[in-house]
Amino acid sequence: MPKVLIVEDEEPLSLLLRYNLEAEGYAVESCMRGDDAEVRLRESVPDLLLLDWMLPGISGIELCRRLRMREDTERLPIIMLTARGEEAERIRGLSTGADDYVVKPFSVPELMARVRAILRRANPEVVSSMLRSGDIELDRETHRVRRSTKEIHLGPTEFRLLEFLMTSPGRVFSREQLLDGVWGHDVYVDERTVDVHVGRLRKALNRGKAKDPIRTVRGAGYAFNDQFAVA
Ligand code: CA
Repeated sequence: MPKVLIVEDEEPLSLLLRYNLEAEGYAVESCMRGDDAEVRLRESVPDLLLLDWMLPGISGIELCRRLRMREDTERLPIIMLTARGEEAERIRGLSTGADDYVVKPFSVPELMARVRAILRRANPEVVSSMLRSGDIELDRETHRVRRSTKEIHLGPTEFRLLEFLMTSPGRVFSREQLLDGVWGHDVYVDERTVDVHVGRLRKALNRGKAKDPIRTVRGAGYAFNDQFAVA
């Protein structure tokens, strides 16, 4: 299980990141101060660090600089979280040794994709390509989906839709958010298209008495229900 340390003093953001990372199978630790993070990083080094720029104690940028000078954290993958307006400073961030940065407010699925990409680059064997929930397994590498060991055949859009929903279990996505996340910003597709593909995905997933893992939230959209019982 890859370990991720979140250093972020905005508690709601830290909790949101923890929730999403844990859903993807990471072991998550968090702290809210730069100096506390430094102490913790002397005790154990995670597989990846999500580091806020502005922190009490010592700043993210200073911590990043110090970590790069330590032999055991010299290559630790670091993603900096910066607020809008600090963008001009990002060059300084990267030159300080961060591997990547995201500007707040960022899209959580996009950050998760970057976390995976950076971990895979740094340490290919640590990142599992499998997403699991209940009796459903989705393999991102081979694009295979199974439910209770039975192979499920999905079209490319249904596959991406399921992958997107499975990476944020419990979260309700509006049709617009699903269009952005699955179809992309530049594609013009009617919101009803989402309903059509959700319908196809459900049909493929729910054979026999299998419980429907996709929840329709009236007036809001859809969620992948991580609480669904294994039928
Ligand atoms: Ca901050």
